Amino acid sequence: MRHDAHGAWIPEAGAPPPLPPLDGDATADVVVVGGGYTGMWTAWHVLEAQPDARVVLLEAGRCGHGPSGRNGGFVSSLDLSIPGLREDVGEAGAVAWADAARETVDAIGAWCEAEGVDAWYRRGGELLVSTAPAQDDVSADAVDGTRVIAQDAAQARARCASPVFRGGVFVPASATVQPARLAFGLLGRLLDRGVRVCEWSRATGMRPAPEGVTVTTATGRVTARTAVFAVNAASGTLAPLRNRLTVSSSHIVMTEPVPDVLDELGWRGGESISDGRALLHYLRTTRDDRILFGWAGGRMAAGARTGGRMEVDPEVVATVRASLVRWFPQLEGRAIAHAWGGPIDVSPTHRPAIVGLRSVPAWAAFGFTGNGVGPSHLFGRTLAALALDRRDPVTRLPFVDPAPRQVPPEPLRVAGAAMIRRALIRKEAAEEAGEAPDPVSAALTALPGLIGVHIVR
Ligand SMILES: Cc1cc2nc3c(=O)[nH]c(=O)nc-3n(C[C@H](O)[C@H](O)[C@H](O)COP(=O)(O)OP(=O)(O)OC[C@H]3O[C@@H](n4cnc5c(N)ncnc54)[C@H](O)[C@@H]3O)c2cc1C
Repeated sequence: MRHDAHGAWIPEAGAPPPLPPLDGDATADVVVVGGGYTGMWTAWHVLEAQPDARVVLLEAGRCGHGPSGRNGGFVSSLDLSIPGLREDVGEAGAVAWADAARETVDAIGAWCEAEGVDAWYRRGGELLVSTAPAQDDVSADAVDGTRVIAQDAAQARARCASPVFRGGVFVPASATVQPARLAFGLLGRLLDRGVRVCEWSRATGMRPAPEGVTVTTATGRVTARTAVFAVNAASGTLAPLRNRLTVSSSHIVMTEPVPDVLDELGWRGGESISDGRALLHYLRTTRDDRILFGWAGGRMAAGARTGGRMEVDPEVVATVRASLVRWFPQLEGRAIAHAWGGPIDVSPTHRPAIVGLRSVPAWAAFGFTGNGVGPSHLFGRTLAALALDRRDPVTRLPFVDPAPRQVPPEPLRVAGAAMIRRALIRKEAAEEAGEAPDPVSAALTALPGLIGVHIVR
């Protein structure tokens, strides 16, 4: 396992060789900034819509080495979020968005099949479980018997026999992938189709140009008709987005292969699993019979800073490991082969958005809030249509230029978020131990709701 100078994990499975930085002046129809899924799907969909389009993609480091190459691998629909979506965007918008999100889960699998990318795509559905009485009603409002199916404790444990499961809901329209395989496969297909991908090319500025927009890096500049910014947790470095998101972190541990444990648990259906906490646990099996177990309870970042303990935090890793063994006592003494983390771009609505930057012909996507693997495909399709100035049903979905929602400015934001995170950790630990949370923690965790900010989940 290797790490870069900032402590970030470097995915190794199938990484293409490094690509040279931008060198001098270049022109394009679309310049894409950010080489994660969102940027790469945008480039892919631009070429799908206009095969002769010239696309330059600028990536600050290596493509797919950010969260896109090292996430939990859940390819989720929005079926659990429909009640909240209805409240936010109305019935028609909620249905259209949820339908598009569901189609995306299948579209990624179909893309892998068509392009010969073995991203270990598996459509095993998603189980949301309660592990404490406080979680027992989680997503009960989304149950409709087909897209979201109620599960009692026996049904949940029949999928995976963890002693902590109390019941929950099952969502069939959900898949998993090996994230680095998907990212590197996508990069390879972009290179095959002639996208100019410049690594080690951090965008440091942009300004209007007669042709559209010029984006500069330390070693060159690209002038294009439109720019697309797909920089995830770094979105706050764009002035108009400074107060549109909070950056937290999520961490994952991965066991050695444990086929005997998976057999004992009866966890062989490929279901991804998460719990009903705000700082949720999320877990899945892998094709090589490991268990991946993550926790969204990592530290908060100041502003848009994404290095250091956002990337790997030994204390958080130790907490995740302890939770893994609590969920699966038979893993006591079994090796953890890998552990890593990464930044999460938390939007105040918990939903991602695409916004036009106004001063230049440019669009930015941000706010996936730990759920970007599936949505980045839909957003890439939408960003491509917007960048090419084309009408497409997806450009009318409610995530395009929604009413702006702000988070408090720094340093208030990081101080407040860190305090609330600590309170949530105390509250949810008490609830799991069957105790009432202390009143201070309960009051602090209620604060974000009072100012209209959703907290992680
Ligand atoms: C530990 C972890 C687990 C997760 N698990 C899941 C999961 O199971 N399911 C799910 O749906 N989502 C999950 N997520 C979230 C998911 O990974 C992201 O939402 C998704 O990868 C976002 O893709 P992206 O392309 O927008 O961002 P990224 O993958 O972060 O890519 C953005 C890229 O932009 C580059 N960049 C930044 N600034 C600049 C600049 N100025 N110039 C050029 N390039 C720049 C970065 O280097 C980076 O490569 C998880 C995230 C983490 C950290």
